[in-house]
Amino acid sequence: MGFDLLGRRWVTEAEAATGPSFAGVPELDGELVLDGASRAAVATDLGNLVHHTPYAVLRPRSARDIAVMIRFCRAHRIAVSPRGQAHTTYGQGLSTGLVIENRYLDRIHSLGPRTAEVDAGILWKDLVTAAYGHSPRRTPPALTGYTALTVGGTLSVGGIGGIVGGLRTGMQVDHVHELEVVTGTGAIERCSRHRKSDLFEAVLGGLGQCGVITKAVLELVPAEQRARAYTLSYDDNTVFFRDLRTLIERPGVDHVYAEFSSPDTTPTYKLHATAFYDPPGGPDDRAILKGLSAAPDIQDIGYLDHVFSIDTAIDTVREMVNWDRLVKPWFDVWLPGSTVEDYLAEIMRTLTPRDIGAYGAGLIYPQRRAHATRPFPRLPEQDGSPWAFVVDINTVSDTLDPDPGFVEEMLDRNRRLFARTREHFGGVLYPIGSVPFTSRDWRTHYGDEWSTFRAAKRRYDPGNVLTPGLGIFGHG
Ligand SMILES: Cc1cc2nc3c(=O)[nH]c(=O)nc-3n(C[C@H](O)[C@H](O)[C@H](O)COP(=O)(O)OP(=O)(O)OC[C@H]3O[C@@H](n4cnc5c(N)ncnc54)[C@H](O)[C@@H]3O)c2cc1C
Repeated sequence: MGFDLLGRRWVTEAEAATGPSFAGVPELDGELVLDGASRAAVATDLGNLVHHTPYAVLRPRSARDIAVMIRFCRAHRIAVSPRGQAHTTYGQGLSTGLVIENRYLDRIHSLGPRTAEVDAGILWKDLVTAAYGHSPRRTPPALTGYTALTVGGTLSVGGIGGIVGGLRTGMQVDHVHELEVVTGTGAIERCSRHRKSDLFEAVLGGLGQCGVITKAVLELVPAEQRARAYTLSYDDNTVFFRDLRTLIERPGVDHVYAEFSSPDTTPTYKLHATAFYDPPGGPDDRAILKGLSAAPDIQDIGYLDHVFSIDTAIDTVREMVNWDRLVKPWFDVWLPGSTVEDYLAEIMRTLTPRDIGAYGAGLIYPQRRAHATRPFPRLPEQDGSPWAFVVDINTVSDTLDPDPGFVEEMLDRNRRLFARTREHFGGVLYPIGSVPFTSRDWRTHYGDEWSTFRAAKRRYDPGNVLTPGLGIFGHG
């Protein structure tokens, strides 16, 4: 027997092993579930590297539910993590206390020509489909490569335009008009650039540290009907980067990203450029391709087929293997525009097929700095280049049960590679992957924003209950 301080009653040893009692929780619109299967289902993320089983799982039906549970957990010092699709790879959204399954909040409240107000648990793909079906046709200005991610999840990390945006737009965090947030004190707040701007800035790209986003008013822009996609292949680093730099500056090109593989694979680089258009007109292929070194493969597809092209590719892999359960020690960093080329040249000297894996990918995404307007996510120091690039080594194990050394080897690679990236190339972490970080690393990461971020944490989550998985403020 022992005394349960939370439930204020005597419990058996077996009961104590299951954690705090949630018996005193006020009535909720949604559900608080405590059964083993529901808790086990949220005990890891897409990385399958870190496992923490929570004591309880909230399936909210309102922001009020989240507020009630955060107040309860704060009073009883239980850690709380919001969870979208859990597509981070190193336990960022895990908790041994309470996990909030935000996907239960998934409504579109309004959709007009300029904005949509949505619940934070909605998937981007559902919003894109609805906005495209709107008359007149609309789209979010920036969309991640994979779109079965939640609005709240990508707004908490940044949301780089992996398939739409980046050249002429910011990230998803740059196109938010207003948020509804439940803070770590359990207060439900509306915030924007003009209202509680400190909360707005701390929450966008804020990794769930100061509040749980429950609703967002998102910018929408006109959507074109067609996408002309140009794919060019390279084995030479210098030639590839010359064409990449030409295409990101070229009028008429709306989106660019690149894939890379280990140097023993041909081609080493694939460059994807896209121009959106409304028929009967079309992009001027000759103008777009002028001066490039490689011959393109050209495809004309519908706008939504383009937006969902990565989703389709991932679903195809899912039909072949249990992709969600493969181990994914991902490495994701920002590079300044002036060093990215030397960086890739250096990486190519050591990258092996095992570093990516049959179901993984190496990716490069350009972002024009002028459109990145928010303090977070952190970008590299200004270096005179108008561009910053995200470089991903999205390693995926070939089997569900890779050899015992695989995880340690890849985490060690990430640790070493990140140190080199930061010290020699001015790189900065994009915190969706699996790079082990100490609280000192986080302080360095936030740099001159650290004291502002810490002040927001103290103000909006004074009990330090929110989102412990990253270890930014001392737990992890
Ligand atoms: C195939 C694939 C492609 C991708 N492509 C891109 C890309 O093109 N661009 C890009 O930027 N990223 C990309 N990502 C990374 C992706 O943005 C992150 O993994 C993101 O976290 C996914 O959203 P999610 O809904 O899974 O969030 P989760 O992983 O569930 O959450 C992310 C973090 O935010 C917290 N959180 C979740 N919801 C909320 C909320 N409502 N309020 C406050 N905090 C919250 C969580 O606790 C966690 O710490 C890709 C990922 C995959 C798997």
